[in-house]
Amino acid sequence: MSFSIPYGKQNITQEDIDAVVEALKADYLTQGPRILEFEKAFANYVNSKYAIAVSNGTAALHLNALALGVKKGTKVITTPITFAASANCVRYCGGEVVFADINPDTYLLDINAVKKLLEASPKGTYSGIIPVDFAGRSVNLEAFKKLADEYDLWIIEDSCHSPGGYFIDSKGDKQHCGNGKFADLAIFSFHPVKHIASGEGGMITTNDEALYKKLMALRTHGIYKDDNAYTNSQMFASAGESDTTYPGWYMEMQDLGYNYRITDFQSALGLSQLNRAEKGLVRRKEIAATYFENFRNKDFIIGQSGVVEGHAYHLYIIEVNKRLELYNFLREHNIYAQIHYIPTHLMPYYRQLGWDEGDMPNAENYYKHCISLPMFPTLTNEEQSFVISKINDFYNG
Ligand SMILES: *Cc1c(COP(=O)(O)O)cnc(C)c1O
Repeated sequence: MSFSIPYGKQNITQEDIDAVVEALKADYLTQGPRILEFEKAFANYVNSKYAIAVSNGTAALHLNALALGVKKGTKVITTPITFAASANCVRYCGGEVVFADINPDTYLLDINAVKKLLEASPKGTYSGIIPVDFAGRSVNLEAFKKLADEYDLWIIEDSCHSPGGYFIDSKGDKQHCGNGKFADLAIFSFHPVKHIASGEGGMITTNDEALYKKLMALRTHGIYKDDNAYTNSQMFASAGESDTTYPGWYMEMQDLGYNYRITDFQSALGLSQLNRAEKGLVRRKEIAATYFENFRNKDFIIGQSGVVEGHAYHLYIIEVNKRLELYNFLREHNIYAQIHYIPTHLMPYYRQLGWDEGDMPNAENYYKHCISLPMFPTLTNEEQSFVISKINDFYNG
């Protein structure tokens, strides 16, 4: 048997290719109808009112921070166990990132650590929280929302790992990641390692109409094209010609926005992939259940992602000793496991802002042991058995 198995991989079908080719032959390469179609379908998938497609997940985060008014002096709390962009978006706007530790059982931002931070400072010190549905496991946003309301904070849910994921709320209802019920804004990424691939791409979801309108403008230079939104007079807009309406060419740049648009052919790919997302999720859950069953009684397992309702399994993580040796051993057998993540607060950029080892003991301890095993819908049973047997071989000498 000879395999080369990455930790994650996109799956492009003939349907996807056909959808992109069709988009390339259409009238619009960008700013066309497929973008809105993708947004509507995505909003429907996660149960949110609005969705805004953008050029990537990082752009989505940046726009969210802008729309929520992050600026110099704004303090925002997030987790160190995430992709750096979850924190960086605050810095793009000049704000201050305050890390809070993870819960060692869920690997998610620990609400008690956040509570401690909030209680230790006067109200108004912090402006927002960015919890991350890390690995695909949904944060309990109902609990975070309660805390956020108490301290007058906004919430950006980083759902890059969890399209289709959910948690069960206190009433026993499913609350889908990105549904906008508890968070002000949520973001997703369509990078090829994520569930839905569009090459590069991202999505913002929300239930807040004002934020939706603001984000739509910020995505395109802060330009508004809406008679009801204009602040310049009609007489000015028509350059003095008497008219009772704004002329057809008129638009206004009201905020300092960006070009963070997605293209129509990327949207076509995203839309086609979205149609298969649920199927992919079912397969991810199967793979997770198999890992769990095989590792649950092993002495060498310190912790693992486990079988958790609503988990979207972007990653399946095990915590082990001799992690570096295992990582190298697996590579020798062409199994490319990965580490998620080097804690963000220990990146040189954040160290020079004052963060240091010892600040986040749970995150740092997790980082010493974690390894993400191959997890993607087209992983075959045979390949997964090979991965499991190699891990067993490694620990059994
Ligand atoms: C991938 C990812 C991002 C960034 O998305 P891009 O589309 O790569 O810019 C942000 N946060 C998390 C948790 C991610 O996994």
